[in-house]
Amino acid sequence: MTETLILVNLFHELALKGQNRPLFLKRAKVHVREALKGLGATLEADWAMALLFRLEEGAWPEAQSRLQDTLGVESFARVLRTPPDLQALEAALAGVLAGERFASFRITAKRSDKAFPLTSPEIERRLGAFVKERTGAQVRLRGAEREFVVRILPGAALLEVAHYPGPGGLPPGVSGKVVALLSGGIDSPVAAYRLMRRGAEVVLVHFHPFPLLSGASREKAMALAERLARFQHRIRLHLVPFSEVQRHIIVEAPTPYRVVLYRRYMLRIAEAIAKEEGALALCTGDSLGQVASQTLENLHAVNQATTLPVFRPLIGSDKQEIMAEAKRIGTYPISILPDEECCTLFAPKHPVTRARLAVVLEAEKRLPTEELIALALKEREVVTYAWPGRKPLKEAGEKAFIMEHGPPRG
Ligand code: ATP
Ligand code: MG
Repeated sequence: MTETLILVNLFHELALKGQNRPLFLKRAKVHVREALKGLGATLEADWAMALLFRLEEGAWPEAQSRLQDTLGVESFARVLRTPPDLQALEAALAGVLAGERFASFRITAKRSDKAFPLTSPEIERRLGAFVKERTGAQVRLRGAEREFVVRILPGAALLEVAHYPGPGGLPPGVSGKVVALLSGGIDSPVAAYRLMRRGAEVVLVHFHPFPLLSGASREKAMALAERLARFQHRIRLHLVPFSEVQRHIIVEAPTPYRVVLYRRYMLRIAEAIAKEEGALALCTGDSLGQVASQTLENLHAVNQATTLPVFRPLIGSDKQEIMAEAKRIGTYPISILPDEECCTLFAPKHPVTRARLAVVLEAEKRLPTEELIALALKEREVVTYAWPGRKPLKEAGEKAFIMEHGPPRG
């Protein structure tokens, strides 16, 4: 059995990050190494924009599935390592060709050992002639059916056997912290993922109607957080009871304004959590015009409840696009499970679509806002999810109850 070697190429944008470049690259490399934890991966080489790992036998399928979800990875490839000479590369190519059929191909040589006696075009010509003779296939520089990438390094050569795209993006945490409002629906997990992909460290907040209604939405939020941990490796979820806030709104506010007011209190509580967490922005899954609560007038009235920027990465996306992305990141099957979420609780038949701020503020005068926020914060639970199998850190001076989740640890 030959060794399993994986070449991981980092996202091209990481090379452009100016003064932050060393920091971003370092973080991306740590993130990739963490993703391969438990698979017996040893780092064989560390280049500016790429890493080479040797894997334990049998670990490849799991490594492939993890790397496909590892932010900061542009692409990865299974490679064969040979001595840096053409005969050795030809022998390796012969082995690969034995199992393949194609009508056209190209060789792409990348030479980082400038002492190697042949130039890249020369290597491509020589190996191209070899493959052509063996297979009868035509060389085609554009649109070839099969590409063979060969890298000449000091002391070794690598032949890519199979190449896979990664998700790209920036590694978690390089862009600072954001608090994302996570419902049990399809949109908000995708919104949170979009910010993770831009390097934000996302902290999740879910508002649930338990114990007034079932705990189904709370369970869904927990399952979604566990799934999202796959991209960030460590993620905190605040589970906030919301029925007390709702009870007051139902009594004091005009019926059509209930949902707008629910949303304003959600933003206020999320803002308080952002302060504790040191987060500088909030994130929601709103998409313009998707439902009655997401008209521009309503979004405007809701937004006035906080001074933090509220990011809405899905504002210009339609439901089809959002659903496709939810499927890709694996949150979709969880999001479509049935639940009883807090906003359907006493939701008005005819919600306002053009909320007026004056009406909102008038109703809120009758609400004990500070007390409601303090109570919600006090009664919340906080759960931390770690992936793959990393031990959650206990935070000092924890105010809230922390449960530990994640796969069993050895
Ligand atoms: P989603 O699919 O994310 O539930 P939606 O299309 O159902 O979104 P709304 O119900 O109007 O839209 O919610 C808009 C946004 O408000 C959500 O994307 C989410 O960010 C936030 N939100 C709504 N309900 C909750 C909740 N119970 N807990 C936390 N955030 C919520
Ligand atoms: Mg929803």
